[in-house]
Formats: sequence, structure tokens, C-alpha cells
Amino acid sequence: MPPSSPSSRETPAAALTDRFSRRHNYLRISVTDRCNLRCVYCMPAEGLVWRERAEILSFEEIVRLAKIFVAHGVDKIRLTGGEPTVRRHLHSLIGRLRALPGLRTLLMSTNGVLLATTAASYRAAGLDGLNISLDTLRPDRFAQMTLRDNHAAVLAGITAALAAGFPSVKINVVVMQGINDDELVAFTEFAAKHPLEVRFIEFMPFDRNDWSASRIVPYAEMRRRIEAAFTLTPLDAGPHAVAKEFAIAGGVGRLGFVTSMTENFCSTCNRLRLTADGKMKNCLFSTTETDLREPLRAGATDAELTAIMQQCVLGKWAGHPPMEQLVELNNRSMIQIGG
Ligand code: SAM
Ligand code: SF4
Repeated sequence: MPPSSPSSRETPAAALTDRFSRRHNYLRISVTDRCNLRCVYCMPAEGLVWRERAEILSFEEIVRLAKIFVAHGVDKIRLTGGEPTVRRHLHSLIGRLRALPGLRTLLMSTNGVLLATTAASYRAAGLDGLNISLDTLRPDRFAQMTLRDNHAAVLAGITAALAAGFPSVKINVVVMQGINDDELVAFTEFAAKHPLEVRFIEFMPFDRNDWSASRIVPYAEMRRRIEAAFTLTPLDAGPHAVAKEFAIAGGVGRLGFVTSMTENFCSTCNRLRLTADGKMKNCLFSTTETDLREPLRAGATDAELTAIMQQCVLGKWAGHPPMEQLVELNNRSMIQIGG
């Protein structure tokens, strides 16, 4: 029987270890549900309701919860959203999280639109790496996919990220059949020329994002098309890696493939999520959420919050259902969960 509350004799990681012995040391924190883009695969075309300001966790609340997670073994945090860079004074949150004893790696996922003027300040505040979303190298297509005209700004953001000296810069590309799958080779050329990793991500289903299995370009197919033009050599990405990584012969950068749909990585999953409105999710596709905000605001102690976090972790399933069933799940959209 799982314990109902953590005991002081437990090792730091015990509270965040699930029924399948998976230790969770990676927390993704969404800092806002707002965004300056409208990517068609990430949010419904209509009807999304933004959370009220009071519903969103303050920086103090985020740091308080993060501190508890870190005390129980989380050593890697990724800030995400919505678009994290639209949250005011984000660099101060970065600095406060960076100062948590035990946190080794602090990363952020961003669409890059605002990075040209902010990347250096995030690096100075202690951010270790950036994943920047860019689904196309063509400005006209960018406008179709994001419903905004910010392609040049994102390219300038990537340049600024590289100039700011981040140890890790990755470009996230959601690959959609018939939309941008003709750019696989062009993106590989881009990776070959720059010191970064281009990550091709299989299109995933979320609330009203017009997903269908026929719009996925499977990992095997992506590799087949790229390897017709380039020689790829597998790299060891570590036990919890979600991406299969490859060196590009003669290239500076590398490639990664995030195969959530055709080859999931549930058995080694080490990730937990905190939404901008203070809900904990034990899986990107989980249909249940655990509220941390209300107990926090009601004055719960660290031990009480830890017990709630532990119950959430113990409720994690062995793996998410197959992709055909994911589309039927009652889940939020990616922009609301925090990718
Ligand atoms: N706004 C930031 C950004 O775009 O990077 C952070 C949040 S975004 C939700 C995080 C990541 O989720 C992005 O790389 C985005 O491309 C990815 N994403 C969103 N919807 C997706 C979907 N349906 N399938 C696969 N990846 C998706
Ligand atoms: Fe915004 Fe990122 Fe979602 Fe695009 S993928 S709508 S940039 S949160």
C-alpha cells in the first residue's frame, strides 16, 4: 500500500517516486497561459478562455512550490507556457529559481519572438538553455502556422540566443504532413550550419487542435527522407532523453526526434508539470489534475503540500494510451497545460 503522507525518514526522492519506481527529477513550470502567437496545432481556433490574473500563480507561489519539488529530488526545471517571455519581470523569477540549492539545470521553452532583446538578460539571470520553437524557414508559412507575422523576429531571437552563450540551444519543429514536412532537409541544413540542435516533434493531439493520425509524419519516415540527403550518426542522449539524437556528417549542429506518438518514452518518464493556474499534472496526457494553488493559498505547510504532490505522483499511469485514444481524452490544449 502506498503511504498516505511522506515520512521524515524517506529519502528526498521518495515523495516523487511512483508505483512503477520512476523517480521524477524534472519539473516543467508554465508561467502563463497567454501567448503572442496563435499556433494552429497548439490551441483551438476559437473559444479559448484566458485565466484571470488572480488565477495565475505569483512568482512567490511558483518559487515556494518549486522549492518543495527541489527538496524532494527535482534537479531540472523548464519554464514554459503559453509564452513565458510575455510574463513581466521573468528574469527575476529565473534568478530566484536559479538560487534554489539542489537545482542543477534551469531551461526555458519559448517561441523566440521577444528573444532578440531579452536573451542576454535571461542568460545573465542564470538560465542554462533555450528551446526555441520554429516550424518553418519560410516567412509566409510562418504566418499561416502561427497566425502572426513574426518570422524575422524569431530568427533574430535565435541569433541572440547563440550570441548570449547559452550552453544549449534547441529549435523545436512540430512536423505536420502536408504543412511543413517538405522542410525536413532544409532544417537539417540549418542544423548543419549552426551550433544548435533541431528537434523534429511528432504532431500530438490536444483539445480541438485538428489532429488526425494522417497528419503525423512518423519518426521512421522523417529519418528516411533526411537520410536520403545526409548521413546521421546516433548519439547517446541518456536514460531519460525524450529525443533520439544524431550527429550530422560534416555539420556543426545536430538533430533530435521527439517520437511521442510512434515510440513513446513512458517507461523512463521523469517529468512532472505545474500549470500556470497551479495544477499539478503527472503526465502531459493525464485527464486528472491535482490542485496545489488552493491548499497553498489556504496556508498549507510544506509537509502538507508534499503529501498532495506525492498522491499526484502515485496516481501516474504506467503509460499513456495509444495515439488513436489520446484524441478522445478530456485534456486541455497544449497552450493551457504548458508544453
Ligand atoms: N510558447 C513556447 C513555445 O512555443 O516554445 C512554449 C510553450 S509551447 C506549448 C511548448 C512546445 O510545445 C513548443 O515546442 C510547441 O511547438 C509544442 N507543441 C504545441 N502543440 C503541440 C502539438 N500539438 N504537438 C506537438 N508539439 C506541440
Ligand atoms: Fe504560443 Fe508556443 Fe503554443 Fe505557439 S506553441 S501558440 S508560441 S504556446
